[in-house]
Amino acid sequence: CGVFGVIGVADAANFVALGMHALQHRGQEAGGIVAHDPVEGFNSARRFGYVRDNFTKASLMETLPGPIGIGHVRYSTAGSKGNTAIRDVQPFFGEFSMGGCAIAHNGNITNAAALRRELIERGSIFQSSSDSECIIHLMARSIQKNIPERMKDALRRVEGAFSVVAMTRTKLIGVRDPLGVRPLVLGRVGEGWALSSETCGLDIIGAEFIREIDPGEMVVIDAKGIESFRPFEQRKSRFCIFEHVYFSRPDSILGGRSVYETRRQIGVELAKEAPVEADLVCPVPDSGTPAAIGYSQESGIPYAMGIIRNQYMGRTFIEPTEQIRNMGVRLKLNVNRGLIKGKRIILVDDSVVRGTTSMKIKEMILDAGAAEVHFRIASPPTAWPCFYGVDTPEKEKLLASTMTEDEMRDFIGVDSLKFISLDGLYRAAGEAKGRDNASPQYCDACFSGDYPVAPSDQLEKGFQL
Ligand code: 5GP
Ligand code: SF4
Ligand code: MG
Repeated sequence: CGVFGVIGVADAANFVALGMHALQHRGQEAGGIVAHDPVEGFNSARRFGYVRDNFTKASLMETLPGPIGIGHVRYSTAGSKGNTAIRDVQPFFGEFSMGGCAIAHNGNITNAAALRRELIERGSIFQSSSDSECIIHLMARSIQKNIPERMKDALRRVEGAFSVVAMTRTKLIGVRDPLGVRPLVLGRVGEGWALSSETCGLDIIGAEFIREIDPGEMVVIDAKGIESFRPFEQRKSRFCIFEHVYFSRPDSILGGRSVYETRRQIGVELAKEAPVEADLVCPVPDSGTPAAIGYSQESGIPYAMGIIRNQYMGRTFIEPTEQIRNMGVRLKLNVNRGLIKGKRIILVDDSVVRGTTSMKIKEMILDAGAAEVHFRIASPPTAWPCFYGVDTPEKEKLLASTMTEDEMRDFIGVDSLKFISLDGLYRAAGEAKGRDNASPQYCDACFSGDYPVAPSDQLEKGFQL
């Protein structure tokens, strides 16, 4: 998901809609905005579909006046899947004795089922199936006198990954979990301030990037300025390495590094680790493009657009049901036949999850008369599900959980298949010495099975580490 917030501007909702549009790649199922105006009070709108189709209509934006607003773009990693229920669309809102509070959450709460059970037993009335709603109910139970303090209380009970943007009548609040699994950045826009999942959300509104919110930090922003708190026990951060590989936009800056440059560098590493003689290097667009450029630059094999992407389709993975995803590949990608015929092709993609994409692409490319097909993948084999906010399927459906690299090659039916090593990925992400196995610099659980936060709900359901 993507979260965005702004304070201290005229018509905050317009800025929020723009920010959400820039973050659309983080969630395409639905979006919501809450804004507050001193006269009109709190207003909200939650809609299915793209931001651009919902939140530009003057009529809708007029109902969201005021100088403070937050927004959320959703893709379901918890709660209802596929046909997201509108009740699961964020921001969520709670009315407390000291006023209202709206929150938007990116990440996944790993003890949400246990918390929900406890809260329901104690009388909370849940409105949605979303894990994020726990935060509001935990806040309602806090005895603290103001909303930021209540939020600290609530979030101290929450485990897992959370980058939260919240607002009250007068304050904009941003928080990252102690490991800083998901991103969150702070920007200055005119006399106001903005919070965004990624820097591309600041760029679109012309905001100046100030800094990242630190892992474990809470910022509270109002007319008087910014206050920073450290509500949690300090821990070594474990940012999601998959944000660098796939999830974030290539024009964003994460941890001081250009996402594009990291991806290009992954391609360079891949060319060193897994060279092969071929005629062309082709990306599986768009997610494989920067790595393919790097692979081509390092290997000297020409880069070419062997697969063309229909720009009117979204991200295939983010289509939550298998059937839509299966079709999605053909709806989205087509082979550039003239270029491919008779050539030995290196295809670069960001990841192999179920193997659906690679299978379909191989079929299409062999159909077009390619002489050889070599897959190079910009991440290590995805052998473990993510429980921190990226929607990977159950372990059994992950190709790499049941097959070796060679078995996957034969299953997909290509001449070769190679994944970047975990160390190679760390080097590309700026860790010259690779992964520090004693104390890893990133979360890489989907590749390593090393979960930095025990996924307690899952363990209770029988998931085996
Ligand atoms: P598969 O078709 O193997 O199940 O999925 C791999 C494809 O899904 C890749 O092309 C990749 O770009 C895309 N993808 C989109 N979202 C995600 C995600 O959240 N996780 C992973 N691992 N791959 C994703
Ligand atoms: Fe990111 Fe993978 Fe960790 Fe999930 S498990 S937070 S996708 S690195
Ligand atoms: Mg892709």
